Amino acid sequence: MEKKNIDWAGLGFGYIKTDYRFVSNYKNGAWDEGILTQEANVVMNECAGVLQYAQTVFEGMKAYTTTDGRIVTFRPDLNAERMEQSAARLEMPVYPRDKFVEAVLKTVKANGAYVPPYGSGATLYVRPFMFGSDSVIGVKPSEEYQFRVFTTPVGPYFKGGVRPLTIRVCDFDRAAPRGTGHIKAGLNYAMSLHAIMDAHQQGYDENMYLDAATRTKVEETGGANFLFVTRDGKVVTPKSDSILPSITRRSLVQVAREYLGLEAQEREVYAKELGEFAECGLCGTAAVISPVGKIVDHGKEIIFPSGMEQMGPVTKKLYDTLTGIQMGTIKAPEGWVVEI
Ligand SMILES: *Cc1c(COP(=O)(O)O)cnc(C)c1O
Repeated sequence: MEKKNIDWAGLGFGYIKTDYRFVSNYKNGAWDEGILTQEANVVMNECAGVLQYAQTVFEGMKAYTTTDGRIVTFRPDLNAERMEQSAARLEMPVYPRDKFVEAVLKTVKANGAYVPPYGSGATLYVRPFMFGSDSVIGVKPSEEYQFRVFTTPVGPYFKGGVRPLTIRVCDFDRAAPRGTGHIKAGLNYAMSLHAIMDAHQQGYDENMYLDAATRTKVEETGGANFLFVTRDGKVVTPKSDSILPSITRRSLVQVAREYLGLEAQEREVYAKELGEFAECGLCGTAAVISPVGKIVDHGKEIIFPSGMEQMGPVTKKLYDTLTGIQMGTIKAPEGWVVEI
């Protein structure tokens, strides 16, 4: 397929309209077949459930080109499963998992000209989402919904090399116990915007949120899970019911155990033990792992031994192994890499 004339390596992380998106509507208790369309705009009533009461959930994943030129996605079944859980929590109908994966593959295929070539560092970001589309003024779930999948090419995450992040322990909370922190809902992002703008203004890249009940335990950032490495080489990730279950983090834990022979623990992580770790990183689809060089907890600086220039050695091994699995240079566990 002829690729679009795009400066792939120069792309940032912004929306670029591609040719096709998938749209399916839910009405009278059932989803329609769904179609690929060139229409990028959504027209709906001013009183739509998503506009009034933020009834919307989303997913984020990427399609990319492997070393041997195949176009693939990474574990789309887990995005389908997570979207099902997100939808259920917001009283939205489930978009069937197999149809979800099919819709993702169809949309990527239709936009094949926008899938960046191998080696460019760029990827095609895929955004499935669903929202309440009919009018609701009394507070209740919508009766009609739209499920869509669009794509947008995004540039390499580490442009000009890796740059470890500086993050602060945040005084705002992201999620409450028994709240919605574990689902991928737009509402979790709306309330994080003030905190992230404030962090940026103070010179920090990201916020570390603590558990809202005791403010002693590490949760996550606005859009990525934490992964720590102890001084004796164990991988530790925070366990909490209000953390969004990152597919990247879950995959990295498996990679640590099965590919690198490391011990990996999912457990409560206290803010007061941060200084005991050797390495820290943020896990998410966009970067796989972004190294954290420094955490500032109300004036107290925790600087990881890996420093502000590079990834720590274990973080780097995890990163290289997972990206090797994704790109096809290392054998993937069954079902992880799905060809389009
Ligand atoms: C999407 C998201 C992540 C990362 O999840 P991945 O599946 O690895 O991309 C982490 N935290 C939050 C709050 C998220 O919304």
